[in-house]
Amino acid sequence: MSSGKSNPLARIPGVDTILGADEAAPLIAKYGHTKLVQCIRDQLSTIRAGLQRTPDSPIPTASDLLAEVENTLSHLNQGSLQTVLNLTGTVIHTNLGRSQLPQAAIDQISAVAAAASNLEYDISSGKRGDRDSHTEQLLAELTGAEAATIVNNNAAAVLLVLNTLARNKQVPVSRGELVEIGGSFRIPDIMSGSGCTLVEVGTTNRTHLVDYQNAINTETAMLMKVHTSNYEIQGFTKSVDEAALASLAHENNLPFVTDLGSGTLIDFGPHGLPPEPTVQQAVTNGADIVTFSGDKLLGGPQAGIIVGTKELVNRIKSNPLKRALRVDKMTIAALFEVLKQYRNPETVISNLPTLRHLTRSQADIKKTAEHLKPILQSAVGTCATTETVECQSQIGSGSLPTALIPSWGIKICPVLSDSGSSHEQLLQQIIVAFRNLPLPMIGRVQDSALIFDVRTLDDASAVTDQLPLLPL
Ligand SMILES: *Cc1c(COP(=O)(O)O)cnc(C)c1O
Repeated sequence: MSSGKSNPLARIPGVDTILGADEAAPLIAKYGHTKLVQCIRDQLSTIRAGLQRTPDSPIPTASDLLAEVENTLSHLNQGSLQTVLNLTGTVIHTNLGRSQLPQAAIDQISAVAAAASNLEYDISSGKRGDRDSHTEQLLAELTGAEAATIVNNNAAAVLLVLNTLARNKQVPVSRGELVEIGGSFRIPDIMSGSGCTLVEVGTTNRTHLVDYQNAINTETAMLMKVHTSNYEIQGFTKSVDEAALASLAHENNLPFVTDLGSGTLIDFGPHGLPPEPTVQQAVTNGADIVTFSGDKLLGGPQAGIIVGTKELVNRIKSNPLKRALRVDKMTIAALFEVLKQYRNPETVISNLPTLRHLTRSQADIKKTAEHLKPILQSAVGTCATTETVECQSQIGSGSLPTALIPSWGIKICPVLSDSGSSHEQLLQQIIVAFRNLPLPMIGRVQDSALIFDVRTLDDASAVTDQLPLLPL
């Protein structure tokens, strides 16, 4: 650094001088001349502004300036989306990206991303094809429905179904099912957004068949049931089951639509989890259209899956909004690979990470926790105590809302030192330290301690390899 008193602005190196410095050439090669010049100019105006405020500041050399510019550029190129370790105990965590895909799906995503494909091309006839054709038969086979179509997510599926079948008409829905899913998906808002009129029937805790009967008139477009996926009403409750609603709809020549939310294809009962209605059951119960998510209990990519009768699905497919909500080739490739796993009930659970995590044995989780505990203890040193503890995982994403599944984790509790920091402050420091690792470890706070639930940790070395970097 050089510093001067008279006219400091005149002594700042110019753009050409900076570009002529030895350090500039590799930066031009890496980031391009235009971007580099732009960044240098930004940097120079920051320095000028600084010098006007405090004329005694040191004047940076070209090398100083380029080092700063390189910092900025490499930071910009880092992007913000990165992988993390979900040790929160919530298996399908919306904020942490929901389901993790099996390798077969990842391979197919890469394959179709890297080359041209027959996304909408029928190879046998040489004519234009339909992007739904790649998953439709398999979905029909697995769910028992006649037809299927895929959109961006389940919110889009519900929107498209309502807009196609009920625009400018009425849809009765039970007051007990007017759900809000995180991130502003609210049934009343989706109704108005798709151009339909919601007719609330029954009460929050009790809705009877006669409530729907009384709501049906010439303006009614369909009957609809929404799976109350993220809460449960307990006590004096009554709701009308799918089969009864389907019959009532059909007696009145109306379609019956059910939004399952998670929509599983297998019965979780035998795997120690509370029962969740399956898509097949909804179809058997007489639903003409069923919508569900691709990345919740199904364990696939983000998508909204619509299955139902050929006639209704064809109407949905030809809605112009479908084009705005459609999925891309990577989603279709991944979804097919995930759905394919369901053809083999003996291996589907071990092959799909979401299902494997949800059903992982206690003994296995405990083993991972016991393996990690001493390693974590040496990483935190005297800052904290560690302990292997029983804890409870959640399924997440509004699936099986009240279900807690017993699990194992490591509890990290700060040790008070003479630094004067409070327990809360020390706990925060520890949480931030784990979050600042190259692969951030996201746990949850419970009883004033940090808990890492290891149910979702497949490979302990992902944790142990980076612990020497723990900034504690
Ligand atoms: C999760 C959920 C949705 C929204 O699904 P996304 O795939 O997140 O768009 C809609 N309805 C219900 C009942 C849900 O549980």
